[in-house]
Amino acid sequence: MAIAAREDNKTKPLPAPNSDFYQLVDVLLPDELAMVKKVRTYMETRVQPIINKYWSDDAFPFELLPSFSELGIGGLGYDGYGCAGGSQKLFGFVAMELARVDASFCTFFGVHSGLAMGSIYLDGSEEQKQKWLPAMARWEKIGCFGLTEPLVGSGTSGGLTTTAKREGDSWVLNGQKRWIGNATWCDVSIIWARDLADNQVKGFIVENKTTPGFSVEKIEHKIALKDVRVPEANRLEQGNSFRDTARVLRMTRYMVGWASTGVQMGAFEATLKYTQERLQFGKPIASFQMVQDLLAKMLANVTACQCLMVRLAQMDDEGKLADHHASLAKAFCTARSRETVSWGRELLGGNGIVADYNLARFFADAEALYSYEGTYQMQNLIVGKAITGFGAFV
Ligand SMILES: Cc1cc2nc3c(=O)[nH]c(=O)nc-3n(C[C@H](O)[C@H](O)[C@H](O)COP(=O)(O)OP(=O)(O)OC[C@H]3O[C@@H](n4cnc5c(N)ncnc54)[C@H](O)[C@@H]3O)c2cc1C
Repeated sequence: MAIAAREDNKTKPLPAPNSDFYQLVDVLLPDELAMVKKVRTYMETRVQPIINKYWSDDAFPFELLPSFSELGIGGLGYDGYGCAGGSQKLFGFVAMELARVDASFCTFFGVHSGLAMGSIYLDGSEEQKQKWLPAMARWEKIGCFGLTEPLVGSGTSGGLTTTAKREGDSWVLNGQKRWIGNATWCDVSIIWARDLADNQVKGFIVENKTTPGFSVEKIEHKIALKDVRVPEANRLEQGNSFRDTARVLRMTRYMVGWASTGVQMGAFEATLKYTQERLQFGKPIASFQMVQDLLAKMLANVTACQCLMVRLAQMDDEGKLADHHASLAKAFCTARSRETVSWGRELLGGNGIVADYNLARFFADAEALYSYEGTYQMQNLIVGKAITGFGAFV
């Protein structure tokens, strides 16, 4: 606990950093709160002590996977198939807690449980759900989501170059993917490709460790697909056009809103603690007016994003979440997150750009969240189309 000197030479404890200024945790039911607390404790005790070193080494702490899987959050928000179930609100709060300590952990969770499992849950057949989801919910099989290509990012809805060609009971996939989280070591890849017959985007479940023609390269974060043969049984039955891909993205963009809010919470708390302890001119820098101004602005961003996300969770739980709602939140929260972490970095001075103090990590990770799952501009174009009635993508 930070202690401040008072003028009468006595000391008083300072308020502990708390990024839940409007007590939004009160919207959780008791069992949801217990789950969120369990995740917080895990992240603070198991991940926080080691994560800066892993981040500096560009590595992932695989040894944590067994204990992480015991948290019981695989398939959070999905009913049945061995998934954790629960409300979208709980899913969001858990994502926020993960990102509060480490956005990469949250991304790992989001890619596996959101993008990969979500593709099967939303677009798969009953048999596919029965076959894949239970093992994925137990984290025994880890998934990735291959949509982006070296030459096609924002334009994936109409421009995928990876092709799928039906040959009897199989499909033959050819092409390349890039920026695919978990790809280098996971078991199941959801690959999106353009069907040469009808030009529509279709999804395929590829068992990448055992399928000839599938290769992954880490440095370039590239997947290559050369005559990869996938049985028809592994084509996502309900994934017949980019609209079906977009249903998955709606859910995961919602999650990125929560993740970027969590990043801000972590950045705010770390910054506040630092400013309470760091002395300049013989005083804690938190006692300076201009420092307090930035801290208040950071907290306002955190609180605005939390409130927005809680409302979005209510809409999601009520079945009202539309693409443009998720896009507005993704764009707003990731933009605020960039602002929040840069103010934090500023308040740490030189220490804001070294790994030991967390802020450098939050600062870099906020940039990834801002661009992945669709850039800021693409989200605003989705919102723009919904509110004006004019599509302005090209
Ligand atoms: C860390 C990280 C992890 C990722 N993980 C995955 C993953 O697991 N799976 C996956 O499939 N992808 C993943 N991605 C890819 C990510 O979704 C893309 O990077 C993103 O969609 C942007 O595509 P791009 O990088 O090709 O940029 P581009 O599409 O080339 O965009 C460049 C710039 O042009 C702007 N722009 C493009 N078109 C328009 C337009 N019509 N109007 C206005 N502005 C426009 C964009 O907004 C952006 O500012 C990941 C990316 C990163 C950085």
